[in-house]
Amino acid sequence: MVLQPVIGIEVHVQLLTESKVFCSCSTQFGAEPNSNTCPVCLGLPGVLPVLNKKVVELAVKAALALNCEITRRSQFARKNYFYPDLTKGFQITQFDLPIATNGYIDVDVSENGGEAKTKRIRINRLHIEEDSGKSLHGEALNVEGTSLIDFNRCGVPLVEIVTEPDIESPEQARQYLLKLKTIMQYCGISDCNMEEGSLRCDANISLRNEDGSLGTRCEIKNLNSFRFAKRAIEYEMRRQAEVLEAGEKVKQATYGFNAATGKTFMMRTKEESQDYRYFPEPDLVFLEVDDDRIEATRKMMPELPDAKRERLTKQYRIPKYDAMVLSTSQEIADYFEKCASLHPNGKAVSNWVMGSVLGLLKERNIGIADCPVSPTRLAELLNLVADGKISGKIAKDVFEQIVETGKSPEAIVSEQNLGTVSDESAIADIIREVADKRPDLVAKLQSGKLNVLGFFVGQVMKRTKGQADPQIVNQIIRKVLLKE
Ligand code: ADP
Ligand code: MG
Ligand code: ZN
Repeated sequence: MVLQPVIGIEVHVQLLTESKVFCSCSTQFGAEPNSNTCPVCLGLPGVLPVLNKKVVELAVKAALALNCEITRRSQFARKNYFYPDLTKGFQITQFDLPIATNGYIDVDVSENGGEAKTKRIRINRLHIEEDSGKSLHGEALNVEGTSLIDFNRCGVPLVEIVTEPDIESPEQARQYLLKLKTIMQYCGISDCNMEEGSLRCDANISLRNEDGSLGTRCEIKNLNSFRFAKRAIEYEMRRQAEVLEAGEKVKQATYGFNAATGKTFMMRTKEESQDYRYFPEPDLVFLEVDDDRIEATRKMMPELPDAKRERLTKQYRIPKYDAMVLSTSQEIADYFEKCASLHPNGKAVSNWVMGSVLGLLKERNIGIADCPVSPTRLAELLNLVADGKISGKIAKDVFEQIVETGKSPEAIVSEQNLGTVSDESAIADIIREVADKRPDLVAKLQSGKLNVLGFFVGQVMKRTKGQADPQIVNQIIRKVLLKE
């Protein structure tokens, strides 16, 4: 029998601040190694951490965006462990009193092409912590057998966001991560740049016991792309199933994922929280967040993806699925809205944005800010179709040409004479030509077999290179051949 996977995810998000969480060093990525450091973030003796106000603001914003309850009085703790890139010998993090708890994210679980469906993934906690430094080993340095440490990341502000074990499949895990990233970006909490380590995730996986109780979990650390996260979870599910099938027990442990082999590998058997000897950070007072601050932050919140999806659905009368795709980024939604403000048919706009525009971005691997077709140009193009000036088929070609030349759709259409052939007598002439060649089909049509109409429409479209409006052609055929 197939055992159901149970998945919980921990994500570390780097907050968008200019300075670190407990000192004024810069957080700039890619700076000269060890240049963004000071006695506080290096953990030299006798220095005092001072909490960065901006970190609290962003953490509260993140908590509200994730529907969390905000702890009015949270606390920092020391998590003690030895690692070369952690000079202090402990990490300052929130432990039993995190700044936020009990939130949720509604995640898209629609089947391909089906109705838009969501599933609620509960968030257990969100807490503030500092990042550690980075060890660089031989290969990365091109010096075999050497390791160097860059402390620039020490003290970079993070929030860790931990879900309940609510996720039921590798794809759901990917959707959760996508949605979380979207929300963080909407609110300006993090740039979520995975290449620069601004968003990192760990996945916990177990297989549910036959009696429905939770099985033993394994944790896969530092998954640095959503695709890898999905693949790592798939692999880990299979590995655990094989262990259980062999009559053995899954041992709780921490794994890494090797993207080249697609396999997980054991790093260490699982440490317990008591191994870290947590205790309250004596150099920091309780962090108090009052109602006024929460309300002030709430007022500054932008429209979030779910609210945007609802509004787009209603305001532009587009399917929920379309609205969901369009609201995956604020910029795409803005592009859509700009275009829809210039063209009355919302569904036509969403079709074009989801198809031609997003397709183009994907093909060229660019963001919507660099899209060679502006929303105004796209609206002009759709207006030409709606006014019957060009056919839908020609519109696709014109779109390609706007991409290539940047010219306006009107200019392209008039220069190349792509306008719809709506001259009734010209179309009637073509119909007569076709009719002369196929008297048999004319006879059929005149005897009432209307299914041959399609043949005549097709021929006219072919001869006008798609530039005639099929509906008008249909009417003229009836006039000319059926004398209607
Ligand atoms: P740790 O510090 O050991 O990583 P956390 O409490 O920070 O522990 O995170 C544990 C994560 O593991 C949470 O996301 C939680 O939902 C998930 N989890 C707990 N039990 C299970 C289980 N049996 N199977 C899968 N995930 C689990
Ligand atoms: Mg953990
Ligand atoms: Zn510093």
